[in-house]
Amino acid sequence: MRRAESLSIQAEQAIASVVEAECPLCKVELRVHDERACCPCCGDSYLAGLSRLEMKRCPDHGRDCEHWAAVWDRRIPPESTS
Ligand SMILES: [Zn+2]
Ligand SMILES: [Zn+2]
Ligand SMILES: [Zn+2]
Repeated sequence: MRRAESLSIQAEQAIASVVEAECPLCKVELRVHDERACCPCCGDSYLAGLSRLEMKRCPDHGRDCEHWAAVWDRRIPPESTS
C-alpha cells in the first residue's frame, strides 16, 4: 500500500482506486485521462462521480478490443489458463 507523494496526482489516484485501476474485462491497467479512468484496450472509461461510477465510451481508445469481440461473438472462451 503506497501513499500518494504528490497532491497533483491525488485526484487521479482517487479515481484509479475506485475502479481498482484495472479493466474487469480486459485485465488491463486503466489509464487516467480527462478525469476518467480509461481502459486503453476496450475504451471503457469510468468517470468517478460523487458516489457512483459512470461508464462512457472513450473516443480515443477501444477501437480494437479482442475481449469485447469475444463477448459479442461468444465463440472464444473468456478465460483459459493454458
Ligand atoms: Zn480488451
Ligand atoms: Zn481513453
Ligand atoms: Zn477494457
